[in-house]
Order: sequence, then structure tokens, then C-alpha cells
Amino acid sequence: MAKVLYENDIQKEVLQNKKIAIIGYGSQGHAHAKNLRDSGYDVVVGLRPGKSQQKAQEDGFAPYTVAEAVSGADVVMVLLPDESQPKVYEDSIKPNLKAGSALAFAHGFNIHFTQVVPPENVDVFLVAPKGPGHLVRRTYEEGAGVPALYGVYQDVTGTTKELALAYADGIGAARAGVLETTFQEETETDLFGEQAVLCGGLTSLVKAGFETLTEAGYQPEVAYFECLHEMKLIVDLMYEGGMENMRYSISDTAQWGDFVSGPRVINGETKERMKEVLDDIQTGKFAKGWILENQANRPQFNAINAKETAHPITKVGQELRALMPFVNDPINKKEKEGKV
Ligand code: NDP
Ligand code: MG
Ligand code: MG
Repeated sequence: MAKVLYENDIQKEVLQNKKIAIIGYGSQGHAHAKNLRDSGYDVVVGLRPGKSQQKAQEDGFAPYTVAEAVSGADVVMVLLPDESQPKVYEDSIKPNLKAGSALAFAHGFNIHFTQVVPPENVDVFLVAPKGPGHLVRRTYEEGAGVPALYGVYQDVTGTTKELALAYADGIGAARAGVLETTFQEETETDLFGEQAVLCGGLTSLVKAGFETLTEAGYQPEVAYFECLHEMKLIVDLMYEGGMENMRYSISDTAQWGDFVSGPRVINGETKERMKEVLDDIQTGKFAKGWILENQANRPQFNAINAKETAHPITKVGQELRALMPFVNDPINKKEKEGKV
């Protein structure tokens, strides 16, 4: 089994007395900055003026620009959206990066696909939490953490691995387990997971099920409950105890249906498509398409997004969730608080 590291494996001293610059204060940025500060490290946040900067200030961070935060920093963690990292890196990070410091990322995309080419005189590492930023913060506050992957791309000081591990520990990840990876493995598996299974696979599966039922004349509300709402209950059981735990909890009828019908829906054909998706990731074809899409100001992204939002499942979902306050729909919540 791959070696999972915990708090006892960490040499905290490699990060002590070092200035850590967190660039960006979004989902990951706010969590890293606050967790590291609460772990006793010296943290500054670098941002452009705007919403995030205001939030960082409310949380007690001084309003530094990216250039100001990077100047003199020993560790620079880049937590900007992946597509805006290359430009901010060229304009504000690279010119201020100190020799012997460390440049860090939470996803390997820009390094692996050479959109950011770091100088030879800095360490480069990756600490990729395997969970959304808000969970990275919440679990830390609860005394736990979100597991993370770490990897070293460039090691000039000879201590990059220890530094990456101390950083992972500082955000709380070593409480949950830290696993070694490479920029290549993290980038390719992260993209594949979100495209084929977690996001793309899941939304397509839910929509196909919802459409099959509603096209056959069943009520959209019932189709929503069966194909989307119940998904969480099933996923929670799998999260807690794997597929065997989920199958233990469901009825034998459901389990028999799982055995005989699941492989009819997700079959060899689907797996062939998954291999194509993986191939596009490995060859850089997916990355190229996404980089060009951004350069063109996202015409395809916006068109698909509009079409997806207009899908009937959106409306019925909004109506149903408004009747289920326990679901905690963040959009309904903001409406009630008068924030939308
Ligand atoms: P978000 O979109 O949530 O936040 C981005 C932050 O960058 C915002 O604070 C934004 O501020 C700031 N920003 C954007 N453009 C600029 C700019 N030109 N100059 C200065 N600041 C800017 O990003 P995420 O936290 O989702 O992602 C950050 C990194 O973490 C990515 O590499 C991602 O792949 C990785 N990651 C994300 C996960 C997640 O849960 N979301 C999970 C694991 C890894 P403003 O308000 O001014 O726009
Ligand atoms: Mg990702
Ligand atoms: Mg059922």
C-alpha cells in the first residue's frame, strides 16, 4: 500500500519563521491562509482590489497586492483560478520571486502543461487537498482535516519534500493523511476524476435518468427525488464504508437491480469513452482546448452553461429545495437573508 503520512511524520521547523504568501483568497485561498495562520505561521495574502481583498481584510489580513506579498516571501502558494495563473505569474509573481524560495500550487495543471515555467533557482511543490476549500477550513476548525496529495517538481534547497509536508500539515491535511504524488499524476487523475466520474459523469448520469423518467410521463418532482436528491444519501454510505456498506444498507431488491442493471447502463462502451477522455488529458488535447477557450473569452463554455441552466431539472430542483430548508440550498439561503 502507498505510504500515508500523518502529523508525527512532519518536520514543522522547516516552515517556522518563514513568510508564506497566499495568492488568491477564494475557495482554497481563504482556507490555506486561515489554517496556516491558526497553525502559528507567518501568513500574508496577495490580491487585486475587489471582493476577495475585502473579505481577506475582514478576516484580518493586510491588503497587499500580489507583487507586494511575493516580495520577500519564502513560500508562495498560487491559489488563483488555474486559467488566470500564467498571466499573474508573469506580471507579478516571477519578477518578485526570491532565489531559494518555494513556489507552490494546489493543482499541477499549469506546471505540468508548461503554462507556468518556474526559474531554476526556486523549489516547486504541490499540496493538493482532496476536497473543496470550505471543507479544508471547516474540518480544520473541527480539529480534523481534508486528506491531501503532495509532490515535488523542483528541489534546489534539498528540503522541498519536508517543506511540502510541513505546509500540508499547516493546513490540517496531516491529521487526515498525506500521500506522495507527482505533478503529472495529480494533474491527470484530478482532471480525469472530475470529467469522467465526479462532475461530468455524475451530471450526465443524473440528467439521463431524469430525462428517461420524465419522457416516459412520470412527474418531474418524483424523477428529481429518485435521480438527484437521493444521490447524496447513497454517496454518504459509500464515503463512510465503500460500496459494500452502501449495498448492506439498501434493500436486496435494490442490490439485485444494482447488479443486473448497473452494468447495462455503464458498460464496456462507457469504459472505452472513459479511455478516450483519459487519452485527451494525457496528450494535452484537453488542456489545449481549455487554454484556447479562455483566450477566446469562453464562447463555448458560456453557451453550454446557458443551455445546461435551462434544463428542466434546474427549475424543479429550485422549487423542491425551497420546500426543504434542511437541504440548506445556498441560493435559497441568500435569498432569505436578502443577499441576492
Ligand atoms: P477561486 O476561483 O475560488 O478563487 C480565486 C481567487 O483568485 C479569488 O480570490 C480571486 O479574487 C483571485 N483572483 C482571480 N484572478 C486574479 C487576478 N488576476 N489577480 C489577483 N487575484 C485574482 O479558486 P479556487 O480556490 O477554486 O482554486 C485555486 C487553486 O486551487 C486552483 O489551482 C485549483 O485547481 C486548486 N484547487 C481547487 C479546489 C477547490 O475546491 N476549489 C480543490 C483543490 C485544488 P477576486 O475576488 O478578485 O476575483
Ligand atoms: Mg480539479
Ligand atoms: Mg428508490
